[in-house]
Amino acid sequence: MAENDTQSQVRVCQSCGLPFDEGHLKFIAKEPNGEDSIYCCFCYKDGAFLNPDATIAEMIEIGVPHLAAKIGEPAAREAMRQLIPTLARWRVG
Ligand SMILES: [Zn+2]
Repeated sequence: MAENDTQSQVRVCQSCGLPFDEGHLKFIAKEPNGEDSIYCCFCYKDGAFLNPDATIAEMIEIGVPHLAAKIGEPAAREAMRQLIPTLARWRVG
């Protein structure tokens, strides 16, 4: 079933960690030049963050309920704590 091994890892939004798997490709934001962004349309639009003042802690809390539906809240919070600080938006500064 693995037809595409060139990208073994699913890309994720580099702000909130939303996975851009097959069902989520439509959520990839567009850059003003029409190229695919590294961010999702919930985080980013027309070259700017929709919530520019968000902090890592806030972004973790935003993500937890979505993931908690699948793996439970404690595991979801831990996973988001691990993931979010590694994303491009939060690594700088
Ligand atoms: Zn996002």
